[in-house]
Amino acid sequence: MEQHKPCPNCGNELEFSAAHHGLYCTHCGTEQAVLRDPDFVPSGSDYLEVLAELDANAEATEHIAIDCDNCAAHIELPENVVADRCPYCDSPVVAAALSTRALRPTAVLPFRISREEAAEHYRKWLNSRWFMPNKVKREARIRKFKGIYMPHWTYDDNTVTSYTGRRGEYYWVDVNYTTTENGKTVQKTRRERRTRWYPAAGTVYDYFKNLLVPANRTLPEELVEELTPWGLDALEGYQPDYIRGHQEQSYALPLTAGFEEAKKLMEPTIRESIRLDIGGDEQQILTASTYYKNISFKLILLPAWENHFEFQNKTYVFLVNARTGEVQGKRPWSAVKLTFFILFLVVLAAVLGYFIINHIG
Ligand SMILES: [Zn+2]
Ligand SMILES: [Zn+2]
Repeated sequence: MEQHKPCPNCGNELEFSAAHHGLYCTHCGTEQAVLRDPDFVPSGSDYLEVLAELDANAEATEHIAIDCDNCAAHIELPENVVADRCPYCDSPVVAAALSTRALRPTAVLPFRISREEAAEHYRKWLNSRWFMPNKVKREARIRKFKGIYMPHWTYDDNTVTSYTGRRGEYYWVDVNYTTTENGKTVQKTRRERRTRWYPAAGTVYDYFKNLLVPANRTLPEELVEELTPWGLDALEGYQPDYIRGHQEQSYALPLTAGFEEAKKLMEPTIRESIRLDIGGDEQQILTASTYYKNISFKLILLPAWENHFEFQNKTYVFLVNARTGEVQGKRPWSAVKLTFFILFLVVLAAVLGYFIINHIG
């Protein structure tokens, strides 16, 4: 795996640029296409087979140190990072080949949204938020956007679930009751719904594809998970060329722990299958045991622009999906704007009340 790729014209390190759809030299503007594998099929690896070969005692974190090709500085990459920019000269550094991880990514969604476009999506997102403090709106600094390839596990499998439960069927009964009408006590009847319960048991079969589990929790998980959908049909074979100039994180969540997360993602669908199988008007699930088979997985890289802003001594991280431009972030609320809005509502209610009393009442 090539660790560096100098520009054929000036020798500067090339980097992957979404704006130029390939490798680009920021020094002289030379462009170079990434040699992609046209026959690449994003097929998964057999989960149990790979698991049997994995070292269960492998470290959960890795630290890589490397010398920068451009300025010769000795760089300690951050924890679980295998590609980044040199902190001294900003040159792309790809140390993926030195990773101690037993599994390397096989597929990648290359950056499609450029840094400038990401900043534009972020500005639109800010302006569409209600009650955002004005100070935040002036805060988007393009240079601070950091391109990150986030590792994800994807799992495919078939499930066979045996269950026991109860099927509820509605029926209606006439119920007599007494009430008072015009000062007289009268007998009346009304219809009431009841449920009759029957035992139910059976087996349901489901198929799952591309269950996506973030494999590194450096970035806020709740934001990463909300960046979907990614359009995984566009996956390309892993190439270091796609990484150059961006940060690549290695996985910190083991393959097995990832599958435990995938089980949680399957749960609602399996329960829905059981409910459909039970039928009737209402369902109760008493026991369910699932057998997972034909499990396969992929380790893939998904691209995001990360940035953050400070507001009242707090850091607010936000991410931009570098395929779709979708923005996810935590946000502060403007106390001033909220107060004025509440005052406005109070005044509006008062005016409406005055109008109703004087013109209708
Ligand atoms: Zn050049
Ligand atoms: Zn350097």
